[in-house]
Amino acid sequence: MMKKLRVEYNHEKCIGTKTCIAAAPRYFELKGGKAHLVGNYKQEGIQVSDYEADETAYNEIVEAGASCPVNAIKVKDMNSGKVLVGTEITTAPDYREVTAQYDDMKEFALDPNGYFLIRVNHATKEIEVGFCKERNHVLVKITGKKPIDIYQTIINKEKLISRIDHGAYLGRELQKAYMALQHGLEYVQDDELKAKG
Ligand code: SF4
Repeated sequence: MMKKLRVEYNHEKCIGTKTCIAAAPRYFELKGGKAHLVGNYKQEGIQVSDYEADETAYNEIVEAGASCPVNAIKVKDMNSGKVLVGTEITTAPDYREVTAQYDDMKEFALDPNGYFLIRVNHATKEIEVGFCKERNHVLVKITGKKPIDIYQTIINKEKLISRIDHGAYLGRELQKAYMALQHGLEYVQDDELKAKG
């Protein structure tokens, strides 16, 4: 039996992972690095399409919506009125709100694996990371242009980190270094970014 489905797609939210296109290539295509909803009309900046879907199409469209990592796709069954894939953020029955608190002086714990020295090379537009176990004695140098390349190499390929908070620290510093390279700022590890003096 054919079912009426409405798809609402927020093009602004799309980060171009293409999982919706892999799941439902008849309904989503790639345009300019982002997904595009086939046969859509615009409604307040949202791409909307109505489809008569057989079981295969129904499953493809629902899977495409559910696969979107940024909740850009809403799918509604127009026969039942039920939202099959929602874009709203919901809360769990045991939902809690927590105010972030941390005292770096008291709570900081060193990673027993070692630590990193980070600097930027404005000439090559690269970030350089030195891994040390002893004070300023570099065992491995990792060089890259993007934070994700560097932290994936350090964490998953070289396995140089043993603490999750150390990985979070590394990500924060790499992003700062990247911003410094993008905007011609001075990067000093653990300091705020500032204009080059
Ligand atoms: S799955 Fe979501 S983020 Fe990925 S291309 Fe499709 S709409 Fe964009």
